[in-house]
Formats: sequence, structure tokens, C-alpha cells
Amino acid sequence: MMKIEMKTPLVEMDGDEMTRILWKDIKEILLQPYIDLKTEYFDLGLPEREKTKDQVTMDAALANKKYGVGVKCATITPNAQRVEEYDLSEMWKSPNGTIRAVLDGTVFRTPIMVDGISPVVKNWKEPITIARHAYGDVYKSSEIRVEKQGQAKLVFTDKDGNIKEEVIYDFECPGVLQGQYNKDTSIASFARSCFQYALDSHQDLWFSTKDTISKKYDHRFKDIFQEIYDTEYRNQFEKEGLEYFYTLIDDAVARVIRSKGGFIWACKNYDGDVMSDMVSTAFGSLAMMTSVLVSPEGNYEYEAAHGTVTRHYYKHLKGEETSTNPIATIFAWTGALRKRGELDEIPELMQFADALEKASLLTIESGRMTGDLVSLWEKDEPAVKLNSRDFLLAIQENLNQILNA
Ligand code: NAD
Repeated sequence: MMKIEMKTPLVEMDGDEMTRILWKDIKEILLQPYIDLKTEYFDLGLPEREKTKDQVTMDAALANKKYGVGVKCATITPNAQRVEEYDLSEMWKSPNGTIRAVLDGTVFRTPIMVDGISPVVKNWKEPITIARHAYGDVYKSSEIRVEKQGQAKLVFTDKDGNIKEEVIYDFECPGVLQGQYNKDTSIASFARSCFQYALDSHQDLWFSTKDTISKKYDHRFKDIFQEIYDTEYRNQFEKEGLEYFYTLIDDAVARVIRSKGGFIWACKNYDGDVMSDMVSTAFGSLAMMTSVLVSPEGNYEYEAAHGTVTRHYYKHLKGEETSTNPIATIFAWTGALRKRGELDEIPELMQFADALEKASLLTIESGRMTGDLVSLWEKDEPAVKLNSRDFLLAIQENLNQILNA
């Protein structure tokens, strides 16, 4: 069989632990036999980040900005225990944080659905994508523990020395205080990424905040979205038959639960953090959730939503068999290959991505799966649990059948 040729390289970011093992096997079993894989390779595994003083992460992020499309393996975000385990000279920052800072994007998380594993919410028939604004709010807030009676004020001094102030509360007893912020520029790029992704994926866009209570802060989010929609995207949405609508978050929650799915739900930072966990759990498993960072400039970085599956890696190191789910990582590759195919006008690459996704889902739907899915399986015929590598080989069998049909 002739291998599919690529034009522009994909930015390939390797990672850590069990997902690093899967990464190599996915390439060897499901990609390299079919594609003349052209990548610009960056090793974001923790040993290489330590060796390069984390320069490799910055290089990878800049390459993603240069070439437009990247695919990333899960990586360790070091904590004190990892500093010891890997003998690190510094507690290197989260690679995802570094990449996000360079690309300035929004993270979209989408569950992968299969026949035989149904969402807890029975009327959900299509995936619900959560778009989380990954900047500011409570994640960058300043806090004070109030010890005794006193007055709290919100004070802003502009660059010309003008002062705006508001009394927050006259404390008659001890309490707590918090100050948070966001920026028009960041909210605007969040909005543009959401509108762009809705058009790319041909789905409606919902946006919700608590603007009835937060009349300036949340209201600003609502206004920026509406302004950008009206001036830059309304025509395209109407042409494509798509809808953008804003609603109060309480109403959004009720509508989401009663919906059929099949739309994008844009959320502020904290709402997106909580709702994406709710949505992934209700759809089945974290191992079946993809994630893509979309920048307002049109750069894409695809990955699995889960981490490096440390527990399985330690088993693997002891020579024990593992049954780690590769689906989200495979879909990170197919997402990136499809986007590369679209940008470079290589239809065969897009068709291959479709075929590989179909083969992956067919394998599970025929009852062969990894351990994490077995307890979720609902069909009468019992599930067959395969080890990590055999599951990839089973997908390969289905892929060959699809490609030879
Ligand atoms: P994790 O996602 O690796 O695991 C969480 C739980 O889900 C575990 O019980 C695990 O067994 C299960 N699980 C996750 N993915 C699975 C899969 N593909 N197959 C089977 N089971 C799966 O998260 P964690 O344990 O909190 O973190 C482990 C490491 O991953 C940490 O060092 C953390 O820094 C890193 N991490 C990285 C990313 C990323 O790179 N995007 C995201 C989260 C965590």
C-alpha cells in the first residue's frame, strides 16, 4: 500500500509515563504503516525538560505557533514528590500552561461516544463540548483573611492617578475577602476562539454567566461576546444555519441536562473547570475525552484530556501487563492529522483520520476494550478486556478492513 504523503510537518510533543509508551505504540501500529509521517519532534518528557531547563517546551510552543497544528502527549506537571523522583533542579511549570501562554487560546473538551456505553443522562445523544476560558478570575485572585472588625474597599488607581473606590463590606466580625480580575483582550480572544470553533465544527454555541448578579464583571463578558458576534460572526453563523445564544448559567444548566447534546457550551474559567468534569463523568470516562487548544490566530494543539496514568506506568515498570485506554490519544492524532489535511488540502489524510476513528470505535463496539471501559459496558455479550498493545492491534485489524474495503 502507498503511504499518504504530508506537506507541512505536524508539531509532535512527546510526553511521560504510560502515555509515552502508548504514544510510541500508536505511531508504530496505527500511523507509520499508513502515513509518511512528517513531524517536527519535541520531547516534553520530564527528563528532557530538566536537561534543557524547560527550553524544549518553549521551543515546541513556538513551533506550534509557526506551523499551526500540534499534537501533544500527556506530561507530568511537577510537584514536590516529582522533584525528588526525577531529581529536578526546579519545579518546572505545567507544559500546558506554557503552551497556552504562547498560543493564547481556549480549551475545548469533547467526549467520545460509543454504542454500548451510554451517558448517565439518557437524553444526551450527541457530545457536549465545553469551552473553558483558561485565564484569570478566581485562578488569579488575591485573598485576605479578615481577622477583626473593619472596612474592606475595592480601590483602582488609573495611570493618571484617578481613583475609583467601592466599599465592599463593613466587617463586624472576622471573615474572608477576595479580589479577582479579567481583561477585555483575553475575553475577546476567548469569544473569537469559541465562534471560530463553532464554525469549524458546525455546532451551535451557548454562552452563560451570572450577569444578573455580577452586573459589571460577568456583564462585560456577555457584552464582548455579543459585540464580536454581531460585528464579525453573525453573517457566517446565519449562512451556516448555526445559532449563538447567551443565557444565565442557571438556565444553561437546566437546558444542558434536558438537551440532546451536539453543541458547544462556553464557560468562564471556574464554571468550565467544574462543568467539564461533570460532563466527562456523565458521558462515561476521562479516558474518552479529547481536548484541543484553539488560538484566535487559528493555531491548534490537540491532546487527550487525561494525564499520564501513573498507576499503570508503575505496573508496566514492574513488568506487569497494563490495559490503558489509548482512545483519547488516538483522537488527538486524528484531530491533528485531519486539520493538517484540511489546511494543506490532502483529502487522503482527512479520510485516513476518519477511518482510524471509525476503526477505534468499532473495536469497542464489537466488545473488545480496555479495563476502564469494562464496567461501563451495557451490551449482553460480555466485554473482552485487552491489554494496552493488543487493543491497538485489534484497532489495526479493523483499520485494515476499512481501508481495504
Ligand atoms: P490521570 O488522568 O493520569 O489519572 C486519573 C485517573 O483516571 C486514574 O485513576 C487513572 O487510572 C484513570 N485514567 C486516566 N486516563 C486513563 C486511561 N487512558 N486509561 C485508563 N485509565 C485512565 O491523572 P492523575 O493521576 O491525576 O495525574 C497523573 C499525572 O498526569 C500527573 O503527573 C499530572 O501532572 C499529569 N497530568 C497531565 C495532564 C496533561 O498533560 N494534560 C493532565 C492531567 C494530569
